[in-house]
This record gives sequence, structure tokens and C-alpha cells, in this order.
Amino acid sequence: MPPRHWALWRQGPRVVVYCLLTEAAAVTLTLRPSPIAVDRRTLLILAVLLVLGVVQSETGRRVERIRRRVSGTPHINMTSVWTFAGVLLLPPPLLALLVTGLYGHLAVRSWYRLQRVPASRTVSNAAIILLSCYAAQAVLRGADIRTALTQGWPGTFAVAAAGATFFVVNALLVLPARREVGRTPEALFGTWSDNGLEVATLCLGALNALALATMPGLVLLVLPPLLLLHRTVLVKQLEVAAHRDEKTGLYNTSGWHALAERTLAAAARQHTTFGLLMLDLDHFKQVNDTYGHLAGDAVLKAVAESIIAAVRGRGDAVGRFGGEEFVVLLPGIDHPDIGPVAERIRRAIATLRVPVGQLSITGLSTSIGIAVYPRAGTSLQRLLDAADTALYHAKATGRNKVVHVADLA
Ligand code: GH3
Ligand code: MG
Ligand code: MG
Repeated sequence: MPPRHWALWRQGPRVVVYCLLTEAAAVTLTLRPSPIAVDRRTLLILAVLLVLGVVQSETGRRVERIRRRVSGTPHINMTSVWTFAGVLLLPPPLLALLVTGLYGHLAVRSWYRLQRVPASRTVSNAAIILLSCYAAQAVLRGADIRTALTQGWPGTFAVAAAGATFFVVNALLVLPARREVGRTPEALFGTWSDNGLEVATLCLGALNALALATMPGLVLLVLPPLLLLHRTVLVKQLEVAAHRDEKTGLYNTSGWHALAERTLAAAARQHTTFGLLMLDLDHFKQVNDTYGHLAGDAVLKAVAESIIAAVRGRGDAVGRFGGEEFVVLLPGIDHPDIGPVAERIRRAIATLRVPVGQLSITGLSTSIGIAVYPRAGTSLQRLLDAADTALYHAKATGRNKVVHVADLA
């Protein structure tokens, strides 16, 4: 493809400059002199790491494919097992070959086929990983793991510090390379499980290097735990996905019910209260009819975000019961306090501006029904029925209002 058609140029000038800078830095640092010699032994280690990396990625392809499909968060791959071992064993030019080989293989075999990741992204990812590797090597000050092995505890700490540096530098370097960056810590730095995976692969990387420096045959022991780890992460991701509504990222019906049942059991045990809000957007069909279904979806997403922003208490859980109906679970809240929370949500939605193409949709309104445990019922179904009755009353008496079931009698 001619350079002027490269996907890189479509990223926006800030990202393009950043990518080119990191790539130039990676190339420059690769060519600097290093105390670790390029000899037969290091060449052999490079070959072993490359082969194992390819074997692992080929064996884990099916798991990786499903992971990529279910996960919307920044995606951690498992290459650190090999690249961090490279940090501890290889001079920069060979480390660069290792990263190029592993990322080239991933790009051709998985990323391009699964997600059409453009080549420029792969190059930029590889450059960032290489810079993280070099930062970790800087902490080791030219020593490889063999030197560290002769240094006792200082050597141990140096290896641990190198791992920590790799993790932190990588997490920071990827931020400016992303065109859209969310504001929550999770959107910025990934989920706990993503980061746990990255830490676990770095740990295995260190053990990997230790094996290669002492009893090279034992390096194979890394493969089974690695493949199992990959599967475990997938299971966790599937669990999360099974409880999420895809359109809004809120809890889906079953996820919200599971959480609400637990809250109910806890409230019954501890003799506390909790509240339920049931929301239904007013005349939402008109939004779809006027602006189209996709615009309607954008409104649903914006509404979900504004409900989340309006309820920030511990254990508060927002769910979507399909269509334009939402539910909010508010643990530990009682009668006089719940009204203002519902009112805050109603006002937040009323002042929303949802950009759709050139125009923005405004003037949305919501009807909200409230029920509080245990006054309105002691089972989840009773409480939902009560909140629904209040919601129905709000609709029947003019919409765009909050009604508490206790005020109906
Ligand atoms: P009311 O004030 O009585 O609630 O009026 P309404 O138009 O909101 O009520 P109704 O329940 O009749 O219509 C809900 C509409 O929501 C119908 C459907 O077109 C729309 N809808 C349901 N699910 C989705 C969705 O996922 N995306 C979009 N864009 N629209 C949806
Ligand atoms: Mg409606
Ligand atoms: Mg409805």
C-alpha cells in the first residue's frame, strides 16, 4: 500500500506525531551500544523465546479470539512472558528482533484476521513495548539476569524493579497513542483482571529468564501455567459480559437481579433498608421516529451514563431491563432521602444534550417510580411491582415526574 494511504494518517495529528516519535526513539535506542554481547548463547536464547512465543500464541488462538470478541476494554496480550525474559537476557538489537518477531506473528495470524488491526497500530504497539523493555533494562544498568544471580538480594530487587518499571512505563506510554481515551480509571488503565494478567505474565517472564540462565530445559514448564492463565482470564471476561447489557454497558436483567437479591438478603439480615427506582423514558418512540433508531441508541447510552453519574453511592447498581426501561438499586437508603436522588436523575436526563451528527437531541423526559424495602415489599418481585405501579402512576398523571409508591395509598 502506498504510504499516503496508510491508516496511520487517519489517527489525528497528535497521535501521528506521538507514534512517529516513539518509533524513532525505539529505533535509536536499539542501535545504542550494550554491555551484553551478541554471541551464540544470546542468539540461541532469542531463537528459543521466539519459538515458544509463537507456540503459545498458536495454542491460545481460540481463547484469544473469544477474548477479543467479548472484551471492549484495553486489551492485554501475553507477550510480556517472552519480552520480559528478553529484557533480562538479551542485548537491545536481539530484544528488538524478539519484539518484531512476536508482534509480526500476532499481527499476521490473529490481529489482522480477527479485527483488521492496521499495520501502523502493530508497529506502534511494538515500539511502545520495546521502549518499556529498554526502560526496564535501564533499571538493570546493563546487567543481565546472570549478573543479578551473583548479586544476592540486590540482584533480586533489581529484577523486581525492572518488572515494575516495565509495567508502569508500558501503562503510561500507551495512553497518548490511543485516539479515544475514557475518563474512568478502568477506561484509562484497563480492568483489575487485565492488569492482573499483565503482572502474572511479567512474573512468568522473570521465571522464564531464570530457567534459561540456569537450567534451560525447564523453560518449557512455563507453557502449561501460561495457557491455563489465558483460559482463566477468558472465563472472568465471559462472566462479566454475561451480566452486562451490550448497548449501554449497564447490568442486564439477570446481572441486576443477582445483585438485587444479594442486597435484599443483606438488608434482611442486618435490618437495613434499600430503595428501587424504575425509570421509563417518556415518548421515546418519537425520538426513534424523528431521528432514527441509531440516534435512539445514542440517547439510551447517554441516559445510561447520566444515571451512573447521578448515583455514586457504594453498591448502587444501574440496570437496563430492555427497551428504554432502567432500574436503579440504592442500598442503605430510606424514605426521605430517596426522593431527591430520583429527582436528581430526572433533572440530569432532562438537561441532556445528545449529539447526533450535526444536531443534538434535547428535551428528554423520564418518569420514575420509587419503592423502598421493607415498606413496599419484602421480596424483590413485590418491590419491582410496587415501583412499577408508581411508575405507571407517574405516566398516567402527566409524565416527567417522580412518584413514590408510599404516596399512592
Ligand atoms: P411512554 O411515554 O408511554 O413510555 O412512551 P414511549 O414511546 O416511550 O413508550 P413505548 O414503550 O410505547 O415505546 C418504547 C419505544 O422504545 C419503542 C421502541 O421503538 C423503542 N426501543 C426499545 N428498545 C430500543 C432500543 O434498543 N433502541 C432504540 N433506539 N429504541 C428502542
Ligand atoms: Mg417509554
Ligand atoms: Mg417502555
